[in-house]
Amino acid sequence: MSTPEDILKQYWGYDEFRPLQRDIIGSILAGNDTLALLPTGGGKSVCYQVPALVAPGLCLVISPLIALMQDQVARLQQLGIAADCLHSGMHYNEVKQMLSKAVAGDYKLLYLSPERLQTRLFTDYVKEMDVSMIAVDEAHCISQWGHDFRPSYLLISDVRYIFPQVPVLALTATATPEVQQDIAASLRMKQPAVFKMSFARTNIHYAVNYSENKSGDTLLELVTGCSIVYCRSRKQTENIGAYLNSNHSSAAVYHAGLSRELRDEAQRQWMDGEVNVMAATTAFGMGIDKPDVRQVVHYDAPEHPEAYYQEAGRAGRDGLPSVATALYNNADIKRLYDSTALHYPPEAYLRQVYQAVADYLQVPIAAQPDKYFAFDLEEFCSRFKLRPTEAIHALKLLEREGLWTLTDAVYRPATVQFLADRHTLDSLQNFHPKLAYVSVGLLRMYSSIFHFPTRISETAVARQLRIPRDEVLQALSRMVAMGVLEYNKPGDGPQLFFHHYRVDSSHLLINLRRIQLLRKRHEERTAAMIAYLQNTAVCRERLLLRYFGEAADTDCGHCDVCATHQHQHMPLATLKKELITYIKQNTPIAPDALLGAFPVADRDTVLQLTRKWTDEGHLYYDGTMLHVRQ
Ligand code: ADP
Repeated sequence: MSTPEDILKQYWGYDEFRPLQRDIIGSILAGNDTLALLPTGGGKSVCYQVPALVAPGLCLVISPLIALMQDQVARLQQLGIAADCLHSGMHYNEVKQMLSKAVAGDYKLLYLSPERLQTRLFTDYVKEMDVSMIAVDEAHCISQWGHDFRPSYLLISDVRYIFPQVPVLALTATATPEVQQDIAASLRMKQPAVFKMSFARTNIHYAVNYSENKSGDTLLELVTGCSIVYCRSRKQTENIGAYLNSNHSSAAVYHAGLSRELRDEAQRQWMDGEVNVMAATTAFGMGIDKPDVRQVVHYDAPEHPEAYYQEAGRAGRDGLPSVATALYNNADIKRLYDSTALHYPPEAYLRQVYQAVADYLQVPIAAQPDKYFAFDLEEFCSRFKLRPTEAIHALKLLEREGLWTLTDAVYRPATVQFLADRHTLDSLQNFHPKLAYVSVGLLRMYSSIFHFPTRISETAVARQLRIPRDEVLQALSRMVAMGVLEYNKPGDGPQLFFHHYRVDSSHLLINLRRIQLLRKRHEERTAAMIAYLQNTAVCRERLLLRYFGEAADTDCGHCDVCATHQHQHMPLATLKKELITYIKQNTPIAPDALLGAFPVADRDTVLQLTRKWTDEGHLYYDGTMLHVRQ
């Protein structure tokens, strides 16, 4: 059997593991349930991909974002690793084909969107699979107290009933202590081994910039080198992109309202360094692995510390000094305060939106659950006279209630499968030579097309056959009408997966008590974000780490607060008070650790005071540690 080191070298070409990767892999290979907390860029994927290849059998990977899964699978396939992904919006036969391959042992890794776990087809097949481990990516999505709860993540524990002996590896880059506990409990982990890397990103210099009129000049000063400027609205990204481009900077624009081609092109330009700045909504960034981002600017205040930490964390993956700056003004603070009411609308509004969705999708009362529908938010809102900013939160809240899953916009390539037998196809030649020409071309290009729905590119077919693309499309439609083949057109929009039996909106059960609790969490998160923005006294890294339940012994020394403190001494009375409290809380403490807990500018005074208190007998030094004398 190959060792993890062999596998890492053979497939990825890396000589050694990063900190904690090897421990995490060892733990999961030893059959332990494992919880891994690594910061963004820490190398989480390798932690399940390597053991998946070491152990015999199949690794199931649950992941929330389809685009991200597709990226991962493409990368693995390039490395020669048998992997595929099963996500919402795929057609029945395609899913069936993939599941049969998984049962036959054709894959080492199978990525799944969580809502797939409860479909009948999946549950029928999964029992036959030789599953070696289950990896849960972005595991904080399972916690309803977390910032990104996805009810379908709760279905993962059902898979555990099927494979009680199979170990689970949960991975995340953001989790407060409460969320960590929730992950372990919800995944029914048995005494999980927990591996936690410090969330400190020591090369990132955090800063906050308050200005009522956020001026373009400030922005121009900030975005030197490769940068991302995060904005709240699509319009804002376009304004900022245009401003930078007309002021001797170069920017691309990215948001979910752009077509897939435009988004891909913007991303390519930025990745290739043709433009410096990406002005984007937070739709941009997940799965982007660009090492040399020097600046992440939040032009509008971020929503909560989890989002901020993750987005700012896209700076400096190469370990070189980088800056994360958040701009804010009073309008931002007001928006943050108001966000709770927006995210948690009144019950009557929730029922109204439920009714509107049912009408929009034309789901009759008592209709069966588990059906996919294309869902265009803008069209939906305009038809039912709802404001998109309000409706989206009601849709998300009802999603949390388990009524449906809204998927991100995802590209689904066209698929074709022949339904007619060879004989019928041959006879096409006599009556419909043009159709026969296209069908023979398809068969030559895609050998599996007789057996299962096969992804095709209509453009490639047109090119190969030297006919216009429209003719290919017409031929496909005609053959569908004749029952010769099944053709699923490509799609690109978001979808709504309806889980629930459709009920009358007045009978819809809504768990108001839970919504109340979620609302309270939201308020707390928002308050923490406001405190971070308005803070001028405490090291910013220290504040963020504290939020994630990590005690920092020292100030980072390079955030804007630390930079100010380096030139300013704390008032003596404040320093004395803080010092006494700190020593009492941490006694016994090593002098170095004590010094490290205070800003550089005050360290001489800290030293003098501790010496004085030791001489006076309040403190006692045993040669290594300082103790408070009782
Ligand atoms: P995360 O999911 O934690 O943000 P990724 O798994 O995407 O991080 O890994 C980030 C980058 O680090 C990837 O380019 C990956 O190939 C690289 N990487 C992971 N492990 C190692 C390693 N042991 N040595 C060198 N590079 C690594």
